[in-house]
Amino acid sequence: MKFSYISHLYCPKCSNEYESDTVQNLCECGAPLLVKYDLNTLADNWKPKDLEGRSNNLWRYHELLPLTDDSNIVSMGEGMTPLIEMDSLNTHMGINNLYMKDEGIIPTGTFKARGAAVGVSKAKELGVKELAMPTNGNAGAAWSLYAARAGISSTIVMPVDAPKITRNECAISGSNLYLVNGLISDAGKIVGEAVKEHNLYDVSTLKEPYRIEGKKTMGLEIAEQFNWEVPDVILYPTGGGVGLIGIYKALKELQELGWIKKDKIPRLVAVQSEGCAPIVKAWEEGKTESEFWNDSETLAFGINVPKALGDFLVLNAIYETEGCAVSVSDEALLEEQKLISQKEGLFVCPEGAAAFNAARQLRNDGWIKEDEKVVVLNTGAGIKYPNTVSVDVPTLEPNERLKPAAIK
Ligand SMILES: *Cc1c(COP(=O)(O)O)cnc(C)c1O
Ligand SMILES: [Zn+2]
Repeated sequence: MKFSYISHLYCPKCSNEYESDTVQNLCECGAPLLVKYDLNTLADNWKPKDLEGRSNNLWRYHELLPLTDDSNIVSMGEGMTPLIEMDSLNTHMGINNLYMKDEGIIPTGTFKARGAAVGVSKAKELGVKELAMPTNGNAGAAWSLYAARAGISSTIVMPVDAPKITRNECAISGSNLYLVNGLISDAGKIVGEAVKEHNLYDVSTLKEPYRIEGKKTMGLEIAEQFNWEVPDVILYPTGGGVGLIGIYKALKELQELGWIKKDKIPRLVAVQSEGCAPIVKAWEEGKTESEFWNDSETLAFGINVPKALGDFLVLNAIYETEGCAVSVSDEALLEEQKLISQKEGLFVCPEGAAAFNAARQLRNDGWIKEDEKVVVLNTGAGIKYPNTVSVDVPTLEPNERLKPAAIK
């Protein structure tokens, strides 16, 4: 048995192939590269029962991950997050089988840790000394902390408006951090120049092939947690779309391996914010690529991406699975976030709340049926966004009396 069945890299646009044992970024045609595994050999050598007794994190799927030597793994125990049944919100939404996969309890508080764990581990394996990336906050936090653990230097550029906690996470990890008066696309241009000038390893979203591999483990876990019988619908808050592309890739690989049936794949739903919805617009117009979204704005910072490099892969995954794309207003997601806390005791991030609100919309439209099995990805912890909650709390003097909730 090999540790990984990685075969090579390929371009989903022009089919060019590249080796996976040297540093690679984009294809010469400008498209992102994807990892190909030797699934035929793997299908003969690897069965679901082989997972029994393995560690309860994403490395349990190492055959389907790009690391060839386990000594290069940089891990903080990320992955195998709980799949929680929503047993109060379900009746409220009219979706009987509603689940949340909670990525908020993963290291660094968002699912970005999955991409960082696999991406940084592979960078270490390839001998990378310094990486660079633009970020809306959460990815920079995860990558700078995992890079610190790997002994790799990091240069990070984020918008001044990015959540303050993510700025602090980068700073405390010793990252070479810059803020930019602008959007993630502006940060991207600055990083692009620095990468050329100083020969840094560019780990911008989809500019290296391994972040997707980390994020795809969400799809592997969902399949395993449902005992290899996939749900009907998966909703995912979509910025760069890496998670959605990854989940789709995972499901296709599991079909190739024969671990899940070929006649059913979950309908994938890309959820965006009304203030930044390029994928939704492209899907509504039946297009295969999106256009740059001008003056994007939303408090769901993780999904404020005006133009995603992998937009054509996201749209393809939606079309191939007969999914759809939905946008949600900031007011609606804040309302939903409050409701989820009060009904389920779960403090989800604004992006996750948007995905729940999209499920509600799709149930109201009849697109989701009452008895369908629906999984919503909560991509991060609400506690990373303290400023999205406005509170009005009475303050007492030391000798004052309170009223119990029942009287209030
Ligand atoms: C980055 C991020 C997203 C969007 O992820 P993509 O895979 O880039 O689409 C969603 N939610 C949170 C909390 C994020 O940090
Ligand atoms: Zn190409």
